[in-house]
Parts: sequence; C-alpha cells; structure tokens
Amino acid sequence: MKTLTVIGAGISGLTCAIYAQRAGFKTTILEKAGGPGGVSTSWKRKGYTFEGGIHWLIGSRPGLPLHDVWTDTGALGTNNPVFYKDPVYTLIDGDTVLELPRSAKKMQKVLGTFSPRDKAALAVLRFHIWCFTFFHTPILDLGGLKVRHPRRFSLPEFLKMGPAVLLTPYLMSISAGRYIKRFRNPHVRRLLETVVDPKINALSLIYTLSTFDDGDGGYPEGGSLRMSRNMADTFTALGGQIRYHTPAIGVRETPEGICVLTENGSIASDAVVISSDARTAIDKLFPEPLETRWARRLRSKLRTAQCMFVAIGVRADLSGFPRCMQIVLERYCDTFEGSYMSEWMPWHFNANAPIRFRPGIFFTGQRTAFSGGLPVAAETGRRTAQILCKSFGMVF
Ligand SMILES: Cc1cc2nc3c(=O)[nH]c(=O)nc-3n(C[C@H](O)[C@H](O)[C@H](O)COP(=O)(O)OP(=O)(O)OC[C@H]3O[C@@H](n4cnc5c(N)ncnc54)[C@H](O)[C@@H]3O)c2cc1C
Repeated sequence: MKTLTVIGAGISGLTCAIYAQRAGFKTTILEKAGGPGGVSTSWKRKGYTFEGGIHWLIGSRPGLPLHDVWTDTGALGTNNPVFYKDPVYTLIDGDTVLELPRSAKKMQKVLGTFSPRDKAALAVLRFHIWCFTFFHTPILDLGGLKVRHPRRFSLPEFLKMGPAVLLTPYLMSISAGRYIKRFRNPHVRRLLETVVDPKINALSLIYTLSTFDDGDGGYPEGGSLRMSRNMADTFTALGGQIRYHTPAIGVRETPEGICVLTENGSIASDAVVISSDARTAIDKLFPEPLETRWARRLRSKLRTAQCMFVAIGVRADLSGFPRCMQIVLERYCDTFEGSYMSEWMPWHFNANAPIRFRPGIFFTGQRTAFSGGLPVAAETGRRTAQILCKSFGMVF
C-alpha cells in the first residue's frame, strides 16, 4: 500500500487527503493547529458563534460541479443545511437604508428606483452579470487517469461559458473600484464596494454578483468549523489519520522515501503533499530556501489579501480592564504575510507553485492556482489527488 503524508488540515489538505485515502493511499495528515480548517475557521464562546471564515460558499447550490466536491468530501451534509441570505448586503447611512438583493433583476429594480440616474449603468451591470450565469468553476479529470466516476463536460456546457470568456479580458483590465465609479449615486457606490475589495479586478465583482444571482454562494449552518470537522470526520471514517499539534518542520528526500521532520521524529512515506502555504514552505521546509524559477517568481509576484477580524460579545462592565490588551492568537496558520488568499489585481498574474514539484513531493492549495478562496482549495486538492493517482498508477 502506498503511503502519503499531507502537511496541513486546511480545506485543500483535507480535500486531497480524502480523495487520496479513498483511492487507496494510507494517508496521514500533520496539522500544527489543534483542529481542522486552516484559515477557514469559526469558534464558539459562551453561546456565541464567531465566524472567521466563510462569507459565502461557492458551489453550495446543488447541481454545480463544485457542489459534488463538497458532498464527496462530506463538507456539506445533513448537519449543515445551507442558508441563503437575501439581501446579501445592507447599507445603513443615517436614515438611508439601501439593500443589495441576490437577484440581478431585483437589484436593477431596487437600485434603479433609489437612483434613477444610474439606470443605464445598472442595465450594463445586469448584462455583465448575465454573461457569467453559466460560468462555473470546472471540475475535470486528468487525461489518461483511470477514474471510477468520470466527470462529463459537454460541448454545450462549454459553449454557454462563451459570453463570460469574451468579457473576461475587459473585466480583468480594470479594478472593481474603477468599474463602480460609473455609478453616480454615492450610496450605490458604497453598497457595491462592500461586495469585494475595490482594489482587485472587476472580474471578481461580476463573478461574485453572478454567483448570488445564480442562487449559489450560501452559508452552511455551523459555519466553517462544522464544515471542516465534517471533512475531517469523512477522512478518519475512511481510515485516515490526523495528528493535530504536529507542525512539519522540514521535508527531505531520503533513500527510505520522502521524510517529513517533526519535533518528535520523522515520518517517511512514498509521497508528501504540502498544503500549508507554499510561499512559506519554499523558505522554511527544505534544507535551503528553494531557488527554482517558479519559487523566485512566487517571491516577487505574489500579492496577498489580509483582513483584520474583530468580534466582541460584551455584557459586562469592562472599566477595570487595561485599555490596551495583547491577546494571544487562537490559531496561526503560518501563511505568508498572514494572508488568507492571493489577490487578483487588474492585469496582474500571481505566480503559482507547481502541484508536482519533484518525484514524491507535491504542493496543493491556495498558492497553486488563481486566485484563491475555498473553490481553489477544493479544486486543487482534488486535482492533486488525481496527479498522485496518476503518478503511482492508481485508480482515482
Ligand atoms: C476571514 C476570512 C474570510 C474568508 N471568506 C471566504 C469566503 O467567503 N469564501 C471563500 O471561498 N473563501 C474565503 N476565505 C478564503 C479561504 O478560507 C482560504 O483561501 C482557504 O481556506 C485556504 O485553504 P488552504 O487549504 O489552501 O490553506 P490554509 O487554510 O492556510 O491551510 C493550510 C493548513 O496548513 C497548516 N500548516 C501550516 N504550516 C504547517 C506546518 N508547518 N505543519 C503542519 N501544518 C501546517 C495550517 O495550520 C492550516 O491548517 C476567507 C478567509 C478568511 C480568513
């Protein structure tokens, strides 16, 4: 039986490990934190749930290709039905309350009534959203791989993506902020600016709005934590092993196989998948920082997205507490610059790490494909498991 060690129990590591274990690998996950999920996490304190991860889950709607990955891996199941909030955002500015409905048709009507001088720009926005209606993260099979349940991708499905493909160069060339500037009403602008970071490209804005319009992008009950725990449970039920509080401190190629060094010794296996941030791994996990062409590009080209998340539930007199407190982080995933994904700026292509690096050493996750988020984690995790199967002559 082939053995596999996966570094990291984030969404990409779990996805890859589940598919690999199911294909017949004896898989162990090493995770530095005390639980699964990586940067996609939530936690409970005194009856409150603090959601530090998912805002909306692409592929939460049944029928979409990515939905199959979420159900294959147990991420979505009977214990976490998906909730679709509508309106998706509400802007409150004094007495002004402006809502962003999910449906593009309703959005055009609501915002057009609120700001009649933006009617033309809203018609263009609705058309752009329509162009992306049939554009979905494709989940495909590797050529030449034996697959138990092959995926079908028909020509009509491909052709339906035509309008999105034609519009993509334009939307990639401008920032979301610049796209939004065409709206004259400041409240309409502010509302649209809440959807994505105005600095990133307009493609992300239109894709996100089309996701909502399509009835996708819901929030699974129990949040990020229940979803990642579901995945961890699927993996262990298949016979996989997860070792929490076990950071990998090195990866070495040895005659016994690929060795992952930990503080309590080393683990040799036929293959290793690095699902922890590849940008961090290239400097820390190998005997010397990697100096391959792609590693140099990753260092110089990567643009990362950060956010500061503060959640406070208070029902007490805190006047006796110090004004400034240093609070130890609950979870530190060692991502580069503390980022939660790569950022896709206008006309900027981040460099990626290759999935197959050297015989037996693979990368997966958020730095191995554009642009980031849970869809990339799930898609690259599955693709890495397929590449592993192909490398070892196994059936996926
Ligand atoms: C606040 C917030 C909101 C978000 N909202 C959304 C959203 O609404 N929709 C969406 O699609 N995406 C969202 N994202 C982004 C998405 O959650 C991430 O892009 C995705 O989860 C990244 O998954 P990953 O598996 O590639 O990486 P990670 O989550 O970084 O997983 C890597 C894992 O490796 C572990 N690790 C690191 N170093 C080591 C080591 N040396 N040894 C062992 N383990 C190690 C880490 O602890 C971690 O568990 C959000 C992220 C955040 C933070």
